[in-house]
Amino acid sequence: MYYDFIKNVQSCYIELPALLYYSHIPVMLICLLMGFFVFFKSQTLVSKSLLTISLTFSIWLGIDLIAWISTNSLYLMFVWSLFGMLYAILFASCFYFLYVFIKGKDLNFITKIILFILILPIILFASTKFNVNNFNASTCVILPEKYYSDYIHLWGGVAFLWMVVLSILNYRKADRNKKGQITLASIGLFLFLFSFFVTDYLAEKLMIWGLATNFSLEHYGLFGMPVFMAFLAYLIVQYNIFNIKLLRAQALIVAIIILIGSQFAFIQNNVNRVLTGITLLLVSGIGWWLIRSIKDDDRRKEELQDMTVKLGEAYDKLKQLDRAKSEFVSIASHQLRTPLTAIKGFICLLLDGTYGAISTKTRDVIEKVYLSNERLIRLVEDLLNISRIESGRFTFRFEKNDIKEMVSDIVENMKFAAKNKHLYLDYKPTENPIPGFYFDKDKLREVISNLIDNAIKYTKKGGVSVLVKEVSEIVLDAQGRKNQNSANSFVQVIVSDTGVGIEKGEEQYIFEKFQRGKDISRVHTEGVGLGLYVAMKIIEAHEAKIWAESDGLGRGSRFIVQLKRNFQPPAEMTDQQKKMTLKK
Ligand code: ADP
Repeated sequence: MYYDFIKNVQSCYIELPALLYYSHIPVMLICLLMGFFVFFKSQTLVSKSLLTISLTFSIWLGIDLIAWISTNSLYLMFVWSLFGMLYAILFASCFYFLYVFIKGKDLNFITKIILFILILPIILFASTKFNVNNFNASTCVILPEKYYSDYIHLWGGVAFLWMVVLSILNYRKADRNKKGQITLASIGLFLFLFSFFVTDYLAEKLMIWGLATNFSLEHYGLFGMPVFMAFLAYLIVQYNIFNIKLLRAQALIVAIIILIGSQFAFIQNNVNRVLTGITLLLVSGIGWWLIRSIKDDDRRKEELQDMTVKLGEAYDKLKQLDRAKSEFVSIASHQLRTPLTAIKGFICLLLDGTYGAISTKTRDVIEKVYLSNERLIRLVEDLLNISRIESGRFTFRFEKNDIKEMVSDIVENMKFAAKNKHLYLDYKPTENPIPGFYFDKDKLREVISNLIDNAIKYTKKGGVSVLVKEVSEIVLDAQGRKNQNSANSFVQVIVSDTGVGIEKGEEQYIFEKFQRGKDISRVHTEGVGLGLYVAMKIIEAHEAKIWAESDGLGRGSRFIVQLKRNFQPPAEMTDQQKKMTLKK
């Protein structure tokens, strides 16, 4: 029936489908909310194209609602003529959105012109009889003219396929992160467009074939839009697209509020309206509180991360400074060692009488100078060792050596220092011969010398005894019988004195770097607390033990070094050392 025929039929009656409001109003709100949210947060080309989609689709939804509710044929003729145009713009803006999202740049001019030319006929013929010409007064429906409608759907199909090809081609080239983004954005968009396209097309065809009396099938297709928005929300939360910071909780709370709020679109009775309203208010309140506390936590986490980064930087700087300090100490110590050794040599020559006879008074003074010089040499050696330990250059040369001979030699050398303080210095080695075993002679010499030097230093009356003895670990065999296994035997070097002693609880602590006994600086001001630390490091490298014992303050102390007779140095050391032994 031609419109001209029914110009006097001003209205018709139609029953509204159940899903009408529910499929239009909440969907429209979600679509506008997302469009404007993204647009205001990041005003990029992608967000502008998303806003265009939101606005076009919302207008489409609004017009569709009017088309359903209105019964005035004149209004209907007008709004129906707009559908095709909006449909065409919607597909064009979806294509534009996907292109800019994937490529990160604007469409080129030629493609824009092609898009424009493709949708131009739809716009040009929108207000002509080639678009809407028929009004069916019995169903209250206007069907677009065949060619116009076919062209619209053809355009929709072409745009859809174009988008699919665009996604597939760019997916292949993308990195892992971008692949995820392309997949989610494309699937979301395709679900929306496909459901919209198919339901719109089918609804129209069913009407033409007389299988349906209205377009209500279309309403199911509209829910594709919130699905697309959900995909976008996920992309924002997970991939931070549009550079928007959206917490998962925020997105979820908004989704819950929308779902509850959308119930108003189909609730028919007032009690339910009130109850849903109260639920909505409560959920909004709780949601707001939840988001605020999550944001607080998030801020604290960020502050903590910031602090960790700063701390890391400070630590690196400190390490750099520490390295510089170690280098400085190492260089300074090297420079000090040479003149000190020269001084020692000259003092020995003086004491030997190489430069002529010296008086007893002068000898006394020179002997004091000699001892002070010796102590300085030891301090410089300790400092050098510390810098070697810190820079990982503390290396060892393990060889089979005679422990009794080495200790006897050290004691002989220290006799002079003891005599100077009127202290005795005894050496009591075990009678049994101890076969040679692996240790670094120079390093162990430093340890024992340090212990004897300390013993002399911290003793005013009496003297120092040095013991070398063998100790065996009693091992019980499977039958519980005692088995004195020589493989488990140790050699102990014990340096005991009758000096100031060590306060209870300090025996461990004095082996730490720069640590001295609590009141020791009153007795002896010169120490720095490095000797025992270095000794501990040397002994650890021998897989041996060192510890201190004392019966208390003023009651002397014992320092015990316990070496393993079956100590096997690390493989590479043995080879190196084997070569050296062979050379000898
Ligand atoms: P330093 O002797 O330069 O202070 P050490 O590392 O050799 O450094 O010794 C650390 C501390 O251990 C000493 O300051 C002292 O308190 C204590 N100590 C070491 N040897 C003895 C000893 N024979 N008698 C009493 N205390 C000792």
